[in-house]
Amino acid sequence: MGRHTGPACKLCRREGMKLFLKGARCAMAKCAIERGRPAPGVHGSRRQRKMSDYGTQLREKQKLRRQYGLQEGQFRLSFERAMRSKGVTGERLLQILETRLDNVVYRLGFAPSRRAARLFVTHEHIVVNGRKATIPSMNVSEGAVVSIRNNAKSQAFVTRSFESTEGVVTVPSWLSRDKDKMEGRVERIPTKEEIAPMVDEQLIVELYSK
Ligand code: SF4
Repeated sequence: MGRHTGPACKLCRREGMKLFLKGARCAMAKCAIERGRPAPGVHGSRRQRKMSDYGTQLREKQKLRRQYGLQEGQFRLSFERAMRSKGVTGERLLQILETRLDNVVYRLGFAPSRRAARLFVTHEHIVVNGRKATIPSMNVSEGAVVSIRNNAKSQAFVTRSFESTEGVVTVPSWLSRDKDKMEGRVERIPTKEEIAPMVDEQLIVELYSK
């Protein structure tokens, strides 16, 4: 299945929760979830039937996948990497997703949403440890320094992002940011508690372990 290019809010309505896909708008009263908009489709406002175990696991997977804006194949690859790596699979999956370069750019407030962060990376505005980085799925390691290219266009984008996300995006404790230098650093790989996932990742492990 291809990347979702339709309205982002529809995905939140489908999952019945805020996935924070649209930057500053997500903190406003205009948010479709805040306004109580039902799930999309003609049966969207019907009361939900009790879900099967499979259905519940599937929905948890879709929420996490959509939150990070991944296609099914990319999400599956991340899961397989988590399975192969040392540690608890569910927590490793969260860490792999959270340390993706596009997510780090978003968490640092350099872009107002993950979707914008992905474009910002592919359009060559980001530098990691002094070298141009253009792959959004690249995982940044502990100690990595993420900065903005030294050109007016890149810096103007980040300035606008800082303005629009002021008071909306909080830089998490596992990252540090020097706003004036437009630079961030990965202080450590986040724990599950620091990531504070919106889903029960164990259900995703169960889904893929069938
Ligand atoms: Fe989701 Fe943000 Fe749209 Fe609200 S405004 S429904 S959180 S994408």
